[in-house]
Parts: sequence; structure tokens; C-alpha cells
Amino acid sequence: MTEKSDENKMEALVALCKRRGFVFQGSEIYGGLAGTWDFGPLGTLLNNNIKNYWWKRFVEEREDIYGIDASILMHPRVWEASGHTEGFSDPLVEDKITHKRYRADHLLEDAGIDTHNMSVKEMGEKMRELKMKSPAGNELTEPKVFNLLVAAGIGAVEGQKESVYLRGEITQGVHVNFKNILDSMHPKLPFGIAQVGKAFRNEIVPGNFLFRVREFEQMELQYYVRPNAEEGKKQYEFWKEFSMNWYKGLGINPENLRFRQHEEHERAHYAQDAWDIEYKTPFGWKEAWGIHHRGDWDLSRHQQYSGISMEYVEDTGTKITPWIIETSGGAGRAFLFTLLDAYTEDDMGATAEGEGKTAGTKEKRVFLKLAPSIAPYKVAVFPLLKNKPALVEKAREIFTSLKIELSKSGIQGITFDDNGNIGKRYRRQDEIGTPFCVTIDFETLEKGTGVTVRDRDTGKQERVSEKDLVSWLVGKIVR
Ligand code: ATP
Repeated sequence: MTEKSDENKMEALVALCKRRGFVFQGSEIYGGLAGTWDFGPLGTLLNNNIKNYWWKRFVEEREDIYGIDASILMHPRVWEASGHTEGFSDPLVEDKITHKRYRADHLLEDAGIDTHNMSVKEMGEKMRELKMKSPAGNELTEPKVFNLLVAAGIGAVEGQKESVYLRGEITQGVHVNFKNILDSMHPKLPFGIAQVGKAFRNEIVPGNFLFRVREFEQMELQYYVRPNAEEGKKQYEFWKEFSMNWYKGLGINPENLRFRQHEEHERAHYAQDAWDIEYKTPFGWKEAWGIHHRGDWDLSRHQQYSGISMEYVEDTGTKITPWIIETSGGAGRAFLFTLLDAYTEDDMGATAEGEGKTAGTKEKRVFLKLAPSIAPYKVAVFPLLKNKPALVEKAREIFTSLKIELSKSGIQGITFDDNGNIGKRYRRQDEIGTPFCVTIDFETLEKGTGVTVRDRDTGKQERVSEKDLVSWLVGKIVR
């Protein structure tokens, strides 16, 4: 297997995503809108599989977690209470000629400086010391702090619109509903509220494909615990490990994942402790996920700003304000890192004879080594030849029955392909990460000896009887 240079890998992946219908630039025909991307048919399948896997582990398989779906537009006071209107900010510098703004920490990181321990003032000093210029080569201003919330106006009458923000994180949609969940579901501590949904940030320099965008989806659990140090620590450690195991379950090589604890000064305004799960991207170790000990920050602030009690009443009648352990990550980053990790090139050729090539010919192949449960298509069904009606009919019959039978085990993404020769079909499916290709040949028809199932990673083919096919596939796909 060959290792692609890091830079080329990202480029190759972006091209593959466009070519094969995973991800397109947002508003592309109008020249694109920076920081936005659209998921195509295969990207939508992959993204849904990732989000469903999250929901399954964090909500469905547990008794103590409630899933909700809150509004994107929220009352402006929410963001005052949460501290975002003052504290949700990044250190920015401005190009003195073009007036374009850049993140000071990003420019320094690009120059090989670790900014994790730096204050805004220190960043300014470092930039001066290095005589740093803007990417356009011009003088820069001193770093200043800038608000990332995206503003919107609601109301029908021009000039009388109410100004609101699109939510900058999905977290607050959960906390403002804490009281509603207490009153409607009567949960006992500890319990959690989970949500998957869009968030918007006016990122100054979006970039690295899906890594830093202005509109993205988050998957978050806010877990409420009794406010004492021992319980907080225990739950924090539990959710930290749980989150890492979830990330590994995407099929990512564990060597490319690590924990990093935030230094005190880089912690968000509310955090008692904060760790990130980082992924080793072609552009360095980057945040994939955050696990934060938020203390009672959110509940007490909403209580203060709304005047509504956010207390939990114990069976003894004692009122307490729970602490919050948050585990939060971007679906788009999970999507990107899963694809980066799965992107593989090899020169499978030894088995090429059965794939429409002469045995022994070496040919470069690109494939996505995606976990079968995450792959957009799980199974592709082919008739060996397109121009033999009996083969096509049998293949269609098996395709239809697989769609119905596999869906009973929660498996979706069964596709039919009879275009080009079998070798080309394998390459096409490899490139989009389809783990199993089922071929119907003359022996299937004449001798009833079943079908061949070809494995994406090894290229090996196995004969599986028609009656065992569904259980064979379920055994390989369901995790
Ligand atoms: P960063 O330091 O990379 O800007 P953050 O610390 O601001 O991220 P959080 O506020 O903790 O991120 O958000 C939780 C998660 O949401 C992040 O771990 C990341 O996966 C995702 N996320 C945050 N900002 C973006 C963005 N602009 N584009 C894509 N995903 C994002």
C-alpha cells in the first residue's frame, strides 16, 4: 500500500468527494459561498450513517438520555446569558491594505508556532517579533477579539426587524429546555439531554474543506449530575472515554486519535476542565471533539437571566442546581476524518484476472476503507454480463430481495450496477467504499451454487449460497 503525501491526500479526497457525489462547494454555480458545503447523494448517506451511529450509542442504547430537536433561532437573551455575546470570540488581525481579517492564532500556527498557551497580547508580541505579514504580504494590525455569532433579522416589516443570532452552538437549545424536560419526563439525576443539529459561526477564515466552516452540524450530549466534585469527576472520566470509543468506532485508526487537555487560559469561559479528542490530519493534530466540565454555569446563568428556576428537587425536597458534563463534536469533522482515514491507494492487480484484467497486471486503485456499517452503500449487486437477460433478471431479483431483507436488520444502501465490465464496476465501488459486491453469474443460474461476494479490501471472492446470503451480509455489516 502506498502512502500519499499529506497535502496530496487532502486534494485527492476533495476531488473524489466532488467526482463521486459526496460533497460539493456551496452555491457553486454562483462562484461558491465561502465556508459552506453541500452534501451530495453519497455524502448524505455517509453523514446520516455517522449521525445515526452517534444517536444509537448516545441515546437509543441508554435509558438515562432524552433526545430533543430545538430551534436554530433563539431569543437574543439566550446568548447574553450563555456569555456568547461577550465571550465567544477569536483573536483577529486585519490586513492594513485589504482590510481582510485573519485569525491571529491560525497565522501563528501556520508559521509553526504553538499558540495553545498564548494570550492575545502574547500573540501580538510574537507576530511583531516574527515581523509577520498578512497572506497578501501587507502589514497587520494588533490582534483584537471579535464576535463569531451570525446575526439575522426576523419579522416581516423592513426597518422593524428584530435582531437575533443563528445559534452558535446547539448546547443552549438543550439548557433552555432543562425545565421542560424535568416537568414532562420527570427524570432522576444523573440524566442527559442529547441533540444533533446545525450551528453557525462567522469563522473569519474558513478552510481545510469541511474542517472549518460557517454552517455545520453538531452532535452533543449535556449530562446533568449532582453537584459534587467526586461525582463530577467520575462522570467526566466516563464520558471522556465513551466519546473516544465512539470516535474509534467510526473505523479510524486509533493511532490517529489522541486526547489533549486544554490549558487553563484556553478553556471556554464556563469550563472547569476541558479535553479535546484530536485527529492527526494532513494539516496537523486538530480538534475533533470536546469534552467539557461546565459546572452549573449554564443553568445558573439561565436562571439569573430568565428569572425561571432551573433547580432540580431531590426526593428529600432539597433543591440543587446540577452540574453539566458536555460531550460535543462536529458531524462534518467526523465525516472528514473518517474519509481521510479511509482513503487508501494500493496496486491490487494480482487478483485482476477475475476483474476483467490479465492476471498479474498491476494497476493503481483508490479505495475508501470505510467500516461496513458506515459506508454509504453496503452492498452492490451485479449481473456478470449486462446483455444476458436471464442474468440481469436474476440479479434484479436478488437485489430487490436484499433491499427488503437487509432493511429488516436496519441495513440500507443496496445498489445495482451493470455498467461497463466487472473490473470497472469493482473499481467504482471501491472508490466509494462499498465493502461487498455480489455478482450473479451463470453458475448461479445453472448450478444453483450461489453468488460470489467480493471483499473490497482484499479483493478476495467467496461463494455464498443464496439462502445464506442475507445472514452472511448481516454478520459482516451490523456492528
Ligand atoms: P475550534 O477550536 O476548532 O474553533 P471550538 O473549540 O470552538 O473549535 P466547540 O465550540 O467546542 O469548538 O464546538 C464543538 C465541536 O464542534 C468541535 O469539536 C468541532 O468538532 C465542531 N466545530 C466547531 N467549530 C466548527 C467549525 N467552524 N466548522 C466545523 N466544525 C466545527
